[in-house]
Amino acid sequence: MNATANQSAIVVGGGIIGIACAHYLSQSGWKVTVIDQGTLAGACSHANCGYICPSHIPPLTEPGATRVALKSLFNPQSPFRVKPTLNPAVLHWFWQFARRCTHQQVLWAGKHLQAILDASIAEYRQILARTPLACEWEEKGLLYVFRTEHAFEEFAQNDQMLTEHFGVAARRIPGSELREFEPGLQDGLYGAFHYPGDASVRPDLLNAEWVRQLRAGGVEFIENCALRGVRVEAGQLVALQTSRGELSAGRYVFAMGAWSAQWSQQLGCRIPIQPGKGYSVTMARPENSPSYPMLFPERKVGVSPFAEGLRLGSMMEFVGYDQSIPETRIQQLRDSARSYLVASVDGAAEEKWYGWRPMTWDSLPIIGPLRHLPNAYLATGHNMLGMSLAPATGRLIAEMLNGEQTCIDATPFSPDRF
Ligand SMILES: Cc1cc2nc3c(=O)[nH]c(=O)nc-3n(C[C@H](O)[C@H](O)[C@H](O)COP(=O)(O)OP(=O)(O)OC[C@H]3O[C@@H](n4cnc5c(N)ncnc54)[C@H](O)[C@@H]3O)c2cc1C
Repeated sequence: MNATANQSAIVVGGGIIGIACAHYLSQSGWKVTVIDQGTLAGACSHANCGYICPSHIPPLTEPGATRVALKSLFNPQSPFRVKPTLNPAVLHWFWQFARRCTHQQVLWAGKHLQAILDASIAEYRQILARTPLACEWEEKGLLYVFRTEHAFEEFAQNDQMLTEHFGVAARRIPGSELREFEPGLQDGLYGAFHYPGDASVRPDLLNAEWVRQLRAGGVEFIENCALRGVRVEAGQLVALQTSRGELSAGRYVFAMGAWSAQWSQQLGCRIPIQPGKGYSVTMARPENSPSYPMLFPERKVGVSPFAEGLRLGSMMEFVGYDQSIPETRIQQLRDSARSYLVASVDGAAEEKWYGWRPMTWDSLPIIGPLRHLPNAYLATGHNMLGMSLAPATGRLIAEMLNGEQTCIDATPFSPDRF
């Protein structure tokens, strides 16, 4: 069922998730307006690593994650860092997170993440087949590279779990063959796992191109338009109070990423999201740049080669809504990548960036209608996978607004689970 002629929807938040929601709603006949408090895709969707990674099934709630978090309380250099706090909302979030760090939860959450990851990459392929978007889409897979045997063998257990429980298989590349596979890597590395089913994009190009296409198709985007309040009458959301006055539509989709939690009270539901801060540095493409997108799990750093640039990205800090970009973190990204890559990682920074990932305590996104405001929907909480999960999220939202059967089981993503 498609929307009737004058059905309208407002999407709050113009990150990758809001853009994807606008795409699918517009395609099925909705008149769509997207508002953003800043510039479109200027927040977490802007300078991330750009992996579209169906291999990224294991949730953050792995056994042992709590130990890593506790140790980081005393180590500001740790790539995974929790700042000590007495804030009850943060403590409650961590308590819920810690309870879920079990093998059972990895399998349960992994099953639902796999469903939405697979659906999403299939949607990307369909979108790009219909309307090519100049976003450096590549299907080279993702490479996990290791310096030491110990780390390689530890990861091998993860890889085995992926194969046994999720049917996702990697190719193991011994150190002796690594330079032939990727000449951008140094000699002497122990080995790598290559997941051939993953893809990658340059996020800023994807966002800009997608918005351009949607604008051409009639979607209205309003920047510098901040949501300030909501007007509710008789159990329905009737208007948004914004910095540019009141805006009304038949349906409302809230895709505000890490900011979503601040709207729990006004929307009458629990939105347990904490910002998981990460950083990236982007430089001009150096000589001998690698060609594969890759991760160095021992140093928890990701490398994204682009046509004109090279990006290093990493870190997961739970430090609240902190906007600083400490130079030590940027240097840490460079130092972490230096011992793996042939190319220089010391080029002048074209951009130093931070983003707040919208982290949920169960690693699953929040997608669906609100129980007490049935014409309002959440599309948020995409953790470390928002770029990967955007198209399937947009499709689910459109199917829900259209009253259709959803393409995958969306129950595990329901806002009602909290
Ligand atoms: C270092 C790093 C690397 C990453 N790498 C990857 C990767 O390789 N692959 C992947 O899949 N994911 C990756 N991610 C995660 C991904 O970036 C996020 O999951 C994703 O960007 C979240 O998208 P979003 O649209 O929900 O949030 P955002 O992009 O943050 O968008 C939310 C928008 O809502 C707007 N907003 C908030 N409040 C209001 C308001 N009151 N009124 C109006 N507008 C409002 C904000 O201005 C913002 O533009 C990475 C993240 C980081 C930090």
